[in-house]
Amino acid sequence: MRKVKKKTNRKFILILITLFIVGLALLVRKQNNFDFILHKSENKKEATAPKFPNYDNTSTEAEDGLLEVTNPKSNLVLVNKERKLPNGYEPTDLVYPIVPLHGVNKAKTLMRKEAAHALEKLFERAEKDGIQLTPVSAYRSFDRQQSLYNYYIQIHGEEWTHSYSAVPGTSEHQTGLAMDVSSPKFGNKLEKEFGETKEGAWLADHAHEYGFVIRYPEDKVNITEYHYEPWHIRYIGIKYATYLYKKDLVLEEVMKPKKKKTH
Ligand SMILES: [Zn+2]
Repeated sequence: MRKVKKKTNRKFILILITLFIVGLALLVRKQNNFDFILHKSENKKEATAPKFPNYDNTSTEAEDGLLEVTNPKSNLVLVNKERKLPNGYEPTDLVYPIVPLHGVNKAKTLMRKEAAHALEKLFERAEKDGIQLTPVSAYRSFDRQQSLYNYYIQIHGEEWTHSYSAVPGTSEHQTGLAMDVSSPKFGNKLEKEFGETKEGAWLADHAHEYGFVIRYPEDKVNITEYHYEPWHIRYIGIKYATYLYKKDLVLEEVMKPKKKKTH
């Protein structure tokens, strides 16, 4: 009688151990599957490009041979050497970002509201990282761009002016979404050596985290048709800026025209 009971107990324990092992195996398998699913969706997220507006659907032919953009108020508006803003375009929500000026003229720091707030956050983060940045020049009206352009032509000639300055109406500064950034340490100058300074390198590494891109990178000159400008940042929004940064692309590359212009 005693012996039988002992045998039953042993059997019971054996069954318990088996159940425990099977249970553990199932749990581990489920966990792995779960990780796999998580991993898969992360990869997918990274591979999916955010939707950029189409090059052709956001412009119409203007009389002067240029394209005129139809979405001037969009954070993703694309203006370049062949795409201009509508005549007389002026953003309606320009504000002064609250950032240290380091001696520059506040009147030149106007930006559209969302971009201005993003700039404040970018500059705050820079200060935290021990980096001092200067907001040198942001919004420029059509008229201001016009007189600057004429001045450059007088001083530097047409060739220089065409590659460094925008034809009035085609400047990103007129969108209210661009800012030329320098640093007190670099004398608040806008020169390509800024890219080699600690501040310029920091800006290139972190601008996208706050929705900005270095609009005219060194290795994209043939696409943007602008010389390297490590100081010119352009607000497009965090999701889009992060995508361009990670894929090493500029706006022109993600908004390619379907048909090549023939002129
Ligand atoms: Zn600029």
